[in-house]
Amino acid sequence: MVKFEGKCPNCGKIFYSERQGDIVTCDCWQYCPICGAEMTQYTPDSASKTYALDSKHDFDVLMICTFHSPPFFSKQKPVEVELHEKVG
Ligand SMILES: [Zn+2]
Ligand SMILES: [Zn+2]
Repeated sequence: MVKFEGKCPNCGKIFYSERQGDIVTCDCWQYCPICGAEMTQYTPDSASKTYALDSKHDFDVLMICTFHSPPFFSKQKPVEVELHEKVG
């Protein structure tokens, strides 16, 4: 019996749970909003060599999608969805 639900503010996905106070991490932050592919974890060391980044792309970037030119840089952090009591 589902009693609690919460909606991801980023992608709108709805999560359900039987327990109160559950916090679910939505996985939408790992996927490219342009093409939907799973993105690669961005590491400044490897990426600066591979993609010749300029200084505009720095610490904020978490994930990278290389299916585009230039690559898509994502600053979206993991989205924690708090579940609240279901109404109705
Ligand atoms: Zn989401
Ligand atoms: Zn992409």
